Amino acid sequence: MDQATSNADIDRVVVTAPEIQARIAELAVLVEKDYADKNLLVIGILKGAVMTMADFVRQLNIHVEMDWMAVTSYGSGTKSSGVVRILKDLDRDITGRNVLIVEDIVDTGLTLSWLKSNLQSRGTNSVEILTMLRKPEAAKVDVQVKYVGFDIPNEFVVGYGLDYNEKYRNLDYIGILAKHIYS
Ligand code: 5GP
Repeated sequence: MDQATSNADIDRVVVTAPEIQARIAELAVLVEKDYADKNLLVIGILKGAVMTMADFVRQLNIHVEMDWMAVTSYGSGTKSSGVVRILKDLDRDITGRNVLIVEDIVDTGLTLSWLKSNLQSRGTNSVEILTMLRKPEAAKVDVQVKYVGFDIPNEFVVGYGLDYNEKYRNLDYIGILAKHIYS
């Protein structure tokens, strides 16, 4: 779905499709250097990180394995509480592995903080995080995010995997949803 098709629902474009692709290529270079000969396991968090994961791994010129997890965070309203439930777990044992979690967005950071500890407790050698987007709140939580695509304002965004009521995931850019859609 392109910009013209969705214009009426989007107030403002925050990151364009070419900007996303350029940044992913930059992040891939960093990850390649950090994980050369490290047998990298990339774990994508469903469903939001599907686009980032698909584009990111295709830019990587090293051997990489992929797995997926789906989690849900209990919370009141739109804020997550940090109490997380696993909807889909990994397919394999990850003991001794060098893991890179790929996420769509870090808001409070509570979900990722829980996820990182959970994966560390499985005997991994290392666990790092790559996120396409990071909101200002994330800085307040003690979770180290090694690779960040873009720092964005504290607004509700959709596109490039991120949804509102399961829609807009197929936008190839990231934008702020118009208020008339949810009010
Ligand atoms: P937190 O970091 O607060 O624990 O939660 C992050 C999760 O909240 C993300 O994985 C995403 O599902 C959701 N989220 C946070 N901010 C936004 C946003 O601006 N747009 C959308 N669509 N989801 C968001």
